[in-house]
Order: sequence, then structure tokens, then C-alpha cells
Amino acid sequence: MSRETLIDLLYLFSATTFVLALKGLGSPKRARYGNMLAAFGMLVAIVATFYKHVDGHSLHHVGLIFLAMAIGVLVAVPVARFVKMTAMPQLVAIFNGVGGGAASLVSITEYIHIKSTHPATYVILEVLLGVLIGTVSFAGSAIAFAKLQELMTGRPVTYPGQQFLNALFGLGALALIITILVTGSSSLLWILLALAFVLGVAFVLPIGGADVPVLISLLNAFTGLAVAASGFTLGSNLLIVAGTLVGASGILLTRLMSKAMGRSLTNVLFSAFGSVVTASGEANRADGRSVKSGSPEDAGVLLNYASRVVIIPGYGLAVAQAQHVVRELAEELEKKGIEVFFAIHPVAGRMPGHMNVLLAEANVPYEQLLEMDEANSELQTADVALVVGANDTVNPAATQDKTSPIYGMPIIHADLAENVVFLKRSMRPGFAGIENELLYNPKTTLVFGDAKDTLTKILATVKAG
Ligand code: NDP
Repeated sequence: MSRETLIDLLYLFSATTFVLALKGLGSPKRARYGNMLAAFGMLVAIVATFYKHVDGHSLHHVGLIFLAMAIGVLVAVPVARFVKMTAMPQLVAIFNGVGGGAASLVSITEYIHIKSTHPATYVILEVLLGVLIGTVSFAGSAIAFAKLQELMTGRPVTYPGQQFLNALFGLGALALIITILVTGSSSLLWILLALAFVLGVAFVLPIGGADVPVLISLLNAFTGLAVAASGFTLGSNLLIVAGTLVGASGILLTRLMSKAMGRSLTNVLFSAFGSVVTASGEANRADGRSVKSGSPEDAGVLLNYASRVVIIPGYGLAVAQAQHVVRELAEELEKKGIEVFFAIHPVAGRMPGHMNVLLAEANVPYEQLLEMDEANSELQTADVALVVGANDTVNPAATQDKTSPIYGMPIIHADLAENVVFLKRSMRPGFAGIENELLYNPKTTLVFGDAKDTLTKILATVKAG
């Protein structure tokens, strides 16, 4: 077998592992295996690439390449190991931004490299698109990171004429690409780079902090496309396949997330959602209704008398890091012969699969996790719905109030249960910034406090009961 054939086969093997890895990532049970498979495929691709160039005398600066790889490993491994689950979206933002930036740098180098050889127009077009998309992804991800890390306001940043200006930046970038293609001017490349940077920043500024995970998924798709463009430029089939896989899965995920939030992608990107907080944040409302609150001990006693309990986790579970204690509580209830399920809403938390990952980390058995529709049918016969830091995902306004910004989002119907125990720290609203009628429902008992502390106290009562 010739060396070229062997390299092609190794690349084909890598591409196949990437496809199988995506399949694995589709279920919590196989996600770890999927991740390992992709990492192995990537290792094979790197080895094959070295092997391809080492004899062809096209491998320069080997020392620098290894130094860059060593720095990458030294930074990425501890960051990935020690990142908190709640900080995962910003980690993805930064990794994605770095990918976009790298694709853009590769395209710039390639442009400088090939321009004297008078390549075909489509080759230059690929390079320029790589610069544009990669830089937009880099700059957008940097702002997304700053928003999620609270280095800047998480609320949408808006100003008059914003969408018109953004359209102008986009059209300006396309006009520049056409001009470079026609005139062959190299200096315009740097203006394109600057404009792409401004476009990336301007595109992300009006997007509210909690919509940013959807945006990151979209930017991830952009990075994939930029990588695929680099693949065309460098004549690398593997980069084309890998980039297209990232692009396609990023677009699918973006669509799924918007759908699960009951909103269109255009609404997520352009409506500056989250700029207005409409909930009063007070326990007693102007219409005279007030909430019923109870102690953790009251909740513990109620649970002890139940025969079927559905736990509904949300973003607050992640904030409180209460996944281990909630698992202990579930185990304790099961020991007493009480049936326990976890109801998982697809957009509970702040990233897709957030609750699955948290509960898997605490070793909650997969059989106890019910998807939304199944959970809703179980809730009809449940004695207690225990809402742990969820809010929007159980808000009945999504099904009842046509004027509500979350109208149309499918929800977990906690109110179908006999009793609702709602754990949160205050009357503050969830991400959508709107009042939750469920808090005022006569079935509901609010237990105020950090979810981890409250659950620890509830667990003690259940154990003693
Ligand atoms: P929400 O953001 O609606 O509500 C979180 C709740 O947790 C609040 O009521 C908050 O109240 C409470 N909370 C916060 N910290 C604690 C704590 N330490 N202890 C106890 N309670 C706490 O969460 P949901 O999961 O129900 O909804 C997710 C929202 O995020 C949806 O609107 C969804 O559309 C959106 N979203 C989800 C994405 C995803 O992929 N999962 C992506 C983008 C957006 P208090 O402050 O009073 O404690």
C-alpha cells in the first residue's frame, strides 16, 4: 500500500469516528464513549498529518508546532477538568472562539501565501469567506464569553438603528470580498478583517445573556463552516468533513434549542429578549394574592406521606450544586417505598442537556430521568411535584397567556400534581424575567433558601420520619 493511500485511509478512519462520535453524543449513556471516540479520531488525524508532511519536506517549524501543542494541552486540560458545570457555556464559547480565530488565521496566511501564484477566483473566495466567518465567530464568541462570565452586562445592549447598522456591516463585508476578488487588492484584506471583527461584536451585543447559549451553538456552526472553507483552501478532505459536521450539527442544535424555547431563531437573535424584567419580585401582589411559604421540615413531612414524587430540576439546581443531595433525597424516598422520577425539560438550565449532565455526575440512574412528555403523564398521578430551581420551564403562562414572551414554549405541568413544593431563594423571576402564576397556585408551597441547604434539611426530616 502506498504512503498516500495509507494516509487517506487514516483520514477516512478519523472522519468515520467523528460521525460515530456525534451519534454517541446523542444520548447521555453513550456520550462519554462518543467523546473518547472523537478524541481518538483526532489523535489519528494529527499523527497522519505529521506523517503526510514529514517526508514531503513541507513540515517547517516543528519545534514551534510542538511548543504550541504543549501550551494548548497545558491550558486546556486543567481548564476542562476544573470548570464548574454552571460555567460550561462560557468554556464552550471560548473554545469555539479560538477555533474560529484559528480558521481565520489559517485563511490569512494562506491568502498571503497563494496570492502571488494567481489562483482561481473560487480559491480566493474560499479564503476570504474563511477570514470573514472565522473572525465573526471569534469576535462574537469573545463577547458571548464576556456576557456569560459577567465581565459585561448580560442584558441586551441596544441602540437606535442597530439592526440597520448591523445589516450595513454585513453588506459592507460582502462588498469588500467582491472588490478584493475583482481588484486583487491585498490591503483590503485587513479592512475586511477589521469589519468582520466589528460585525461579530455588533451581532452579539443585542442578544440577552441567557439567549447566548443558543447563539454559541450558531457561532459554533459558523466556526465549522470556516474550518470547512480552510479545508478547501488547504486541499484537506478531513478538514472539509470535520468542518461540515460541526457546521451541520451546530445548525441542528441551534434549531432544536430555539424550538424547545418555543421561539424562532430570528426571535432569539433579533428581539433583544430579556431586556425588560416584568415580574414584581414581591411575595404580595397588587391584586392582593400572596404566596404560601413553608419550612424545609414541612416539605419533608409532605414527602414522607407521598407515594409518588416527581422532582423537576432547573437552573437553580446547577447554581446551588445540589445534584448530589437531590440524588440522596431520591434514594432515601425510594428506600421508603416512594416512587421517584426526575422530569427533564429540554431547555432547563442554561445549555442543552444541562440537567442530564448534572444528574449523571451525581449518579442518578438514567431510568429515573423522564423526558418532558412522559413526565407530564406521570405528574397526573403524582402526590408531590418538587421543583428544584426551575421556573420558566414550569410556568403555566407558556400555555395560557398569549401575550407572554414565553407563550408557545412546551412546559412541565407541575400543577397537575396533588401538591407543588417550590424551592427558590426569593420571588425573583427566572431567565425570561416574567411572573410565574404557579407560585400563587393554592397547591404550591414555597420553601425559600438555597436549594442545597433546603434539600439537606428536607433530607434530614425524611430520614427522621
Ligand atoms: P429559570 O432560569 O427560569 O429559573 C431559575 C430559578 O432558579 C429561579 O427561579 C431562581 O430563583 C432559582 N435559583 C437560582 N439559584 C438558586 C439557588 N442557589 N437555590 C435555589 N434556587 C435558585 O430556570 P429553568 O431551568 O426553569 O429555565 C431555563 C431558562 O433558560 C428557560 O427560560 C430557557 O428558555 C432558558 N435557556 C435555556 C437554555 C438551554 O439550553 N438549557 C439556553 C438558553 C436559555 P431565585 O433567584 O429566587 O433563587
